Amino acid sequence: MNLIDGKKIASDIVDELTQKVSAIDGNKPCIAFIRVGEDPASVSYVKSKNRTAEKIGITPLLFTFDNTISQEELFAKVDALNEDPSVNGILIQSPLPSHLNEQDAFNRIDPNKDVDGFHVVNAGRVVQEDPDGFVSCTPAGIIEICKREGIKLEGKHVVVLGRSLIVGKTFSLLAMQKGAHANATVTVCHSRTRNLKEITRQADVLVAAIGRPEMVTGDMIKEGAVVIDVGINRVEDASRKRGYKLVGDVNFDEAALIASKITPVPGGVGPMTVAILMKNTVKAYALQNA
Ligand code: NDP
Repeated sequence: MNLIDGKKIASDIVDELTQKVSAIDGNKPCIAFIRVGEDPASVSYVKSKNRTAEKIGITPLLFTFDNTISQEELFAKVDALNEDPSVNGILIQSPLPSHLNEQDAFNRIDPNKDVDGFHVVNAGRVVQEDPDGFVSCTPAGIIEICKREGIKLEGKHVVVLGRSLIVGKTFSLLAMQKGAHANATVTVCHSRTRNLKEITRQADVLVAAIGRPEMVTGDMIKEGAVVIDVGINRVEDASRKRGYKLVGDVNFDEAALIASKITPVPGGVGPMTVAILMKNTVKAYALQNA
């Protein structure tokens, strides 16, 4: 079994972007983060994105709002950032409080500054295989792992567990695209899928994005398959200082005995998401300055 080191791949991408950005004369790429409320996970995600941007030389701007912000106030901020030519990328940290419609907020962002790739126009660009579109970061990160690890998807049976827009559905569209690093035969499974094990056992590449701790067991995996575990689940663990540990959607110990390659949790797909966000920001800058 070969462990896929997502941390190392993400760090290589950050180094490549740092070189690219340092070669830019004048104004550097700029990303604006909007965070509403003080949800600890959101605070920590935005901090980590901010830090990586700074490391690369991308200018980060952080705008924080109280949980009570109205949709009009939020939209006014997005509109101002859309209009500001010095801002190349805009990210609204999810989740938003329940009185705000998240998809409406994402759709308010100028699609050419939508570096998270959640705007309806960018979802359409994925379907149309438009290279100038922005692909959401986690599915794009999985494709990048495949490229850099020499995992060929062409002609392979890729089974995707999960059909969310931010992971499963978008990854399945990318894997079935025409062209290099795609051309897979894709099966998408979800909570209503019957005989899940029969399907997953046919996978040459199995991508798990369901949010169910260690649900994918060894007997669900074909000998020699590549296993990409997207899940990030907290499970209680009294032996840890913080009282929990992170596990994926795959039972790692069982899968590791059967898979030819596997991503760990943490340290697999997770770190790729921020790296691709930065890649999208540099791409937005390039497209806006072309
Ligand atoms: P969602 O809850 O939006 O989607 C989960 C999907 O899994 C749904 O399509 C659901 O089916 C399906 N599902 C749930 N239970 C089962 C089951 N028993 N059998 C088959 N399918 C099932 O989650 P996300 O896509 O947002 O996230 C998935 C996981 O990936 C989570 O653990 C999340 O934390 C992690 N994640 C990691 C990221 C990273 O950076 N590494 C980024 C984003 C997410 P149905 O549609 O029928 O409800």
